[in-house]
Amino acid sequence: MLLELFGVAVLALPIPPSSSVVVIHAGAVIDGTSAAVRRDQAIVVRGNRIESIGPWTPSAVPSGARVVDLSSATVTPGWIDAHTHLMLDPAGGDYDTQLLKQTNEFRAARATALARRMLDQGFTTVRDVETEGAGYADVGLKQAVEAGYVVGPRMYVSTRAISSTGGYEPNGYSPERDIPAGAQLVDGPVEARKAAREQLAYGADWIKVYMNHRSWVDAKGRLVSQPTLTLDELKAVVDEAHGWGRKVACHAYNGIGMRRALDGGCDSIEHGLDLSDEDVAQMAKQGTWLCPTMMPYYYEWAPENTPAGAKDRKRMEVHMPSMRKALKAGVKIVFGTDAGSFSWDEPLAKEFAYMVEFGMTPMAVIQSATSRSAEMLGAAGELGVLAPGAYADVVAVAGDPLADVKVLEKVVFVMKDGKIYKEPAGR
Ligand SMILES: [Zn+2]
Repeated sequence: MLLELFGVAVLALPIPPSSSVVVIHAGAVIDGTSAAVRRDQAIVVRGNRIESIGPWTPSAVPSGARVVDLSSATVTPGWIDAHTHLMLDPAGGDYDTQLLKQTNEFRAARATALARRMLDQGFTTVRDVETEGAGYADVGLKQAVEAGYVVGPRMYVSTRAISSTGGYEPNGYSPERDIPAGAQLVDGPVEARKAAREQLAYGADWIKVYMNHRSWVDAKGRLVSQPTLTLDELKAVVDEAHGWGRKVACHAYNGIGMRRALDGGCDSIEHGLDLSDEDVAQMAKQGTWLCPTMMPYYYEWAPENTPAGAKDRKRMEVHMPSMRKALKAGVKIVFGTDAGSFSWDEPLAKEFAYMVEFGMTPMAVIQSATSRSAEMLGAAGELGVLAPGAYADVVAVAGDPLADVKVLEKVVFVMKDGKIYKEPAGR
């Protein structure tokens, strides 16, 4: 609304949102950025932002504030899962069944339940990295969450994803049949740029590209991956996305596809199963993020004496040295589960334990799911941190996750945007 004030048109600001005050009495606080744990703290939340954090005293409670007693719990910022597929759920059928037999409407409706499940497990933000044939359903889901129709995490979405002809699922159908692909397939830099433009125009916050598709174990026992987009195709996508102030996530395992991903200026490498010394050096130099996604590689291996089974085992075998190499080189690592490629019945927090097993400290792992991911999303200081001015996204677990990382599977409290969605029983 425009008002005339002293002859000058000024914009009348809307009345600020509810200024209700909640004080969280926290037994221990891990704030997402600091290595220190603070004991017995009061986190004052006003509206949807954190107002202050300081030592707990009853006098720290403003009059009229509601107090949440988490004095025997560990409180962290809300977590960020930087790699999911909310439009997929293997519990509902294999990939081709979901793509070919389920409507986008069914998949989006199902995703509303999965989004709620994510929030209950402590994930207040998600980067969902492609809908797998469900078009722009992620944009719609994000809008429904923002409008309050659906309860779920804050969403960063990447819509359809981009690969090349022959570079994505489903495979093996007759060429006479017109089978839809799980990603937008392009050939040549012109088509690649056009696909990026379309996706950005229809609401993509990130662009997702596939730089590898098929992979297998060769006669020498090495993991080999088929490259997809060329360097010129990727550069067209990255150039377009960066012009919009957006970033590009690249699915890449190793080899030629990985080289092109890094030379082409990818912002994040997804999976990075088999990184060479050269790859990690380039990632550290360019500041490329790594989202290693351990969970899918532990899930349902094919029988041992089959090519698919050999591939499954090889992927696992190379993943740990790859991750250790990246850690040693100082590559920035973010938390991502790849949920949707495995069943949502698995607790998402299992990924924390895998990251610890692969060489990270529990504190580093918590930061990878909070401040580090927030930085990658361009939301440092607002998400993934407990500090004055940040969004009031707060999670609590029963116990000490630094002593036992599995405690992160026991979420007792979830607040998103200042609103409580889960709290200890007995209230
Ligand atoms: Zn994925």
